[in-house]
Amino acid sequence: MFTDKMILRIPGPTPIPPRVQQAMNQPMIGHRSGQFSELFARTEQRLRPYFGTSGEVFILAGSGTSALEMSVVNTLQPGEEAVVLVSGAFGERFAKICERYGIIVHRLEVEWGEAVTPEALSSFLADKPQVQAVFATYCETSTGVQNPIRELAHIVREKSNALFIVDAVSCLGAVACEMDAWGVDIVVTGSQKAFMLPTGLAFLAASKRAWDVIDSKKPLAFYLDLKAYRKSLADKTTPYTPAVSLIFGLVEVCNMLDEEGLPAIIKRHELMRDMTRAAMRALGIPLMASEEYAATTVTSCHPHDAFDAEQLRKVLRTKHNIVIAGGQGHLKGKIFRIGHMGFCEPLDVLQVIAAIEMSLQQIGAPVELGAGVKAAQEVLLAHV
Ligand SMILES: *Cc1c(COP(=O)(O)O)cnc(C)c1O
Repeated sequence: MFTDKMILRIPGPTPIPPRVQQAMNQPMIGHRSGQFSELFARTEQRLRPYFGTSGEVFILAGSGTSALEMSVVNTLQPGEEAVVLVSGAFGERFAKICERYGIIVHRLEVEWGEAVTPEALSSFLADKPQVQAVFATYCETSTGVQNPIRELAHIVREKSNALFIVDAVSCLGAVACEMDAWGVDIVVTGSQKAFMLPTGLAFLAASKRAWDVIDSKKPLAFYLDLKAYRKSLADKTTPYTPAVSLIFGLVEVCNMLDEEGLPAIIKRHELMRDMTRAAMRALGIPLMASEEYAATTVTSCHPHDAFDAEQLRKVLRTKHNIVIAGGQGHLKGKIFRIGHMGFCEPLDVLQVIAAIEMSLQQIGAPVELGAGVKAAQEVLLAHV
């Protein structure tokens, strides 16, 4: 097999489109040059529609978690209180970041595989008037659940004065996000998921309400001081050396996103979700997320005792060159997750399903070859 044809069907890092790869190979330029400043400022503006904001999108060098941390250290102080919606591993990460900085965390936990409902949030907030921020995960990558951010934002606005801060790392660029219209205060994301880039860029957008809070507080970290990023962005640059090659790639990503258009991108991801879920159902493999809250970027499957998820992943990788993800936390070794986001299209989904069917046969699990592929093809044909 071609060793350079390893096919990534994990929820990040995702495959890099050739034209983005090529853009990143441009010769290095000085990051304080006029050439870079113009490119950087234009690209920042082009990102705004994907966040649904008229405000600035701050770009920093770091993985997605750096933007999560940035949203915490600029809005809260030790001893202040926050509510964190925990529907999986990434909600838990937000809670841990807050706790590391001495913030008092109230976890609203739901069973992994479930979404946080507006009703649950509404009653949870009822006796916590002192809470200053509510943290949520848009797509909970560890379970394949997409939380109802628009409705949750509505509850936060209605029931409290807290900021509403959203981790959209594993879905922004592939889902609807109207932070201004929905009343979301901070949205953060990263480069290696739906943005089709290598890891290394993190993004954060903040509302006017968020800025009023940020301006009134002393940041708890140095590198992640948002006020420094705002000051630099006014001069079309960043406070510390930007990841220039990744910005070159980001320009090409913006070209690709704009060419396809967000409505078509959203539809493509919905179709890939529907194909994947139809296939798993046809193969008799239980899905973790309900129909209502299934993520469009990653599908999580729980085979229970039917077969060993880790054995399936191993055969897929070693015999078919396809990588899918396993479980995190208490689901480690128990589930498998198929990433279908970014540089991925419906025919790629047929490929991973076909390979899963063959791998199931190879590990001795009961499978009817072609059943999942057929179900997915039927979903696809109904759309084209
Ligand atoms: C991938 C991911 C992150 C960030 O992870 P990094 O490894 O720091 O890039 C954060 N939240 C969610 C929901 C994610 O999927």
